[in-house]
Amino acid sequence: STAILWFRRDLRLSDNPALIAALDSYDRLLPVYIHAPGEDAPWSPGAASNWWLHHSLRALDVSLRERGSRLLLLSGDSLACLQALIATSTASAVFWNRCYEPVSIARDSRIKQQLRAQGIRCESHNSGLLFEPWQIKTTTDQPFRVFSAFWRRATARLADIPTPTPAPGILPPLPDGISSTDGRLSQSLPEQPLDALGLLPRIGWDAAFSDSWQPGAAGAQARLRRFFDQGAHDYAVVRDQPSVAGTSKLSAHLHFGEISPRDLLQAANATAGDHEAFVRELGWREFSTHLLFHFPQTAELPLNPMFDDFPWRDPIPPVLLQAWQRGQTGIPLIDAGMRELWHSGWMHNRVRMIVASFLTKNLRIPWQTGARWFWDTLVDADLANNTQGWQWTAGSGADAAPYFRIFNPVRQGERFDPEGGYVRHWCPELARLPNRYLHAPWTAPVGILQQSGVTLGLSYPHPLVDLADTRREALAFWQQLRDTD
Ligand code: FAD
Repeated sequence: STAILWFRRDLRLSDNPALIAALDSYDRLLPVYIHAPGEDAPWSPGAASNWWLHHSLRALDVSLRERGSRLLLLSGDSLACLQALIATSTASAVFWNRCYEPVSIARDSRIKQQLRAQGIRCESHNSGLLFEPWQIKTTTDQPFRVFSAFWRRATARLADIPTPTPAPGILPPLPDGISSTDGRLSQSLPEQPLDALGLLPRIGWDAAFSDSWQPGAAGAQARLRRFFDQGAHDYAVVRDQPSVAGTSKLSAHLHFGEISPRDLLQAANATAGDHEAFVRELGWREFSTHLLFHFPQTAELPLNPMFDDFPWRDPIPPVLLQAWQRGQTGIPLIDAGMRELWHSGWMHNRVRMIVASFLTKNLRIPWQTGARWFWDTLVDADLANNTQGWQWTAGSGADAAPYFRIFNPVRQGERFDPEGGYVRHWCPELARLPNRYLHAPWTAPVGILQQSGVTLGLSYPHPLVDLADTRREALAFWQQLRDTD
């Protein structure tokens, strides 16, 4: 009998609970990916995510073919595609791993209900989290809003996390009548070649992505090994320095489920040294999903309702937003971060906080606008992590940085990029400025600017806003909000 394995954001064969469950009872397996970006609206995947997805699907298909199977790509309404597949293949079961975005939960519940009513066995599993979002609760059975308390409760249960399972060496055949090589499965099915999905950008903006990333499970495992062989031992020390490759860069692999958090936990436990700081970041990932699950409105709205009435700039002046998006604000650390994002589809965590603080506090542009830009340009764009990161920085989220703590990008640069390696790399027009002026070129004497080949307003912008004035203004607005609350 045949089971459908519906791949979604679990694009791997190792430690894949839905796959294992299907293999347990079925001797024919139909692996499928359904392209239905509209079902994620209003958070349909952005351009950078689509680039990643294209390559990840190709890698998954290669792994399946190595094991005697292949990936069927369908395009259209998920339920309709599954029903067409069931009709064509006489499959009697569908297995998948869960997604936790509010719209995915609604869609999957509907599909489960419909298929079960047709007598189809439907099973969903957890492949993407250490804990289900509903597993970690306060003593009064409430969701957590404070990370430290959440993580304390979760760490007490880390020892119960099952060890990851290896990928099966060989997979059951496809059902009769379905080509194991290529060719259309059936005229009635909307099967698509990968290239026809149109996931790759039409402009050459992704040119450098392939230098930075290897989407797919093999790329994820290689990065994991590299991190634990080289970087993990001083993660706690260097993770805040953007000029050092001191973090794992596994976020996109985790988002697409090419590697499981259990793999990361196991690697941390098996590697000599103290990896508590790294595992704690996995905790933030769990906490983000916990928050989005329990407070689904937060992808659009502030968790703290006090911020409902925050006087964001309205309308948003395009010149401010575009300068931020393009890395042309005249504030070197901000520009370096935004250029890193555009060029590589990723940005260092500390710099994400600093550019987000600048946008929301110094420019007073709503965090949702920044979250949208990140959504389109990050290869690791993830609704829970992105929402939590933006709300935390803007001050409106759970356990958020207090609003009055406004990052000063100059001080942050001096502290975390003291030798200027990060800024010099992404803003080469400033490379010859001495360290002392690198993070605030507008303070440099004219002679130094001239010697360094910098002409403010020409080779590099004047600062977009005055950091001290805009800080004062933001605090005044916040104070007003508190007074009226
Ligand atoms: P590492 O330091 O190696 O951490 C290991 C893993 O832990 C990461 O891969 C990630 O899955 C998780 N993690 C680390 N930090 C956080 C965090 N603060 N919150 C939640 N999970 C975390 N992360 C995303 O995956 N997708 C996003 O869309 C996203 N948007 C963000 C937006 C803002 C404004 C901010 C401040 C942070 C955002 N983050 C997001 C969190 C964080 O910046 C990235 O997860 C991290 O930089 C990824 O790099 P890494 O894999 O080298 O992390």
